[in-house]
Amino acid sequence: METRSVVSIYDTKALEAVRSRNAVQPHRMKLFRNALFKKACGRDEALDTLPENARSDFAEHVGFGFLELLERHDSKIDGASKLIFKTNDGHLIESVVLRPATGRTSICISSQVGCACYCGFCATGMMGFSRNLTLDEILDQVTQANRMVKPEGRSIRNVVFMGMGEPLLNPDAVFAAVAFLRAPQFFDLSASHITVSTVGIPHAMERFVETFPKMPLALSLHSARQEVREKLMPQARKYPLDQLRETLVRASASGKVMIEYLMLSGINDGEADLQALIDYLRGIPVHLNIIPFNEFAGSQLRGTAQPEREQFAARLKAAGFDTTLRYSLGSDIAAACGQLVQKKRRQ
Ligand code: SAH
Repeated sequence: METRSVVSIYDTKALEAVRSRNAVQPHRMKLFRNALFKKACGRDEALDTLPENARSDFAEHVGFGFLELLERHDSKIDGASKLIFKTNDGHLIESVVLRPATGRTSICISSQVGCACYCGFCATGMMGFSRNLTLDEILDQVTQANRMVKPEGRSIRNVVFMGMGEPLLNPDAVFAAVAFLRAPQFFDLSASHITVSTVGIPHAMERFVETFPKMPLALSLHSARQEVREKLMPQARKYPLDQLRETLVRASASGKVMIEYLMLSGINDGEADLQALIDYLRGIPVHLNIIPFNEFAGSQLRGTAQPEREQFAARLKAAGFDTTLRYSLGSDIAAACGQLVQKKRRQ
């Protein structure tokens, strides 16, 4: 007897085989896909869109969920919710749903369990690197969050790869996930509503802009001085600022480039740092985001105070750069940038 394995709802080819053997008409498949990805329906509701004779095969041989939602923490001060998921092999990862007072409901998702970049200011780096997330695990964060916000009359319209991990060190799964989020027949998010954030891996950034020309790309720069950046971000030794600049020029010719600059007291917030940043970015059309440091247990680093951050941003604006000051959401639930950290919990 033929043994049939379970195929993922995100595996288009394998799902086509299940469709075909049940002779489901393409328009019914469309209803099924719309239920899952556009209407945020649960498994049973999605199965109900299929012809009755096909339901049991789909129920048995199609995998709908890949992560178990263990905990949900809702911020008391802003619209952030932190979701802690468990993978099938017992790892914990986090996603953060953001409901800004004005603007789209967004999700910040993880691309790896832990991270191998070891940036000195990031809590995720302290947990080390375990493994890449699969395509199924990346997309299930969005699917589950979408179902969660549905009763609020919301839907996830914005996805940022700024959770745990370095997305461009897991390029195959991340690129496939981005394509899926973008595709009209699946999540149908607009190109400008998906942002990948990277420590700066030039060859992968180039591949990204070639594959997704109009999509924003965010670079965690944090210093335009090579020696300072190397101290903060070990990856900077491998990919020096000169090389990164050439990539930025090419990327900004294709789509929107955002530069993230986290301000650390006495480390990257002085006059020399400001001048180096202005010189480094001169002539490249980027959007600058000045970020406050989110403290976490075990870190000695201190953030630059708000008035100085404002001053720094004002000087960048005066130098002609499109600059915004970011304020963190989710700080009371340790859901802000760089605060995501989880240890493996086995049952
Ligand atoms: N690895 C990717 C994405 C994950 S981090 C990257 O480095 O871009 C998302 C953003 O949060 C990055 O800009 C990162 O530098 C920033 N970040 C990390 N730790 C932080 C902290 N403690 N406070 C504020 N921002 C932090």
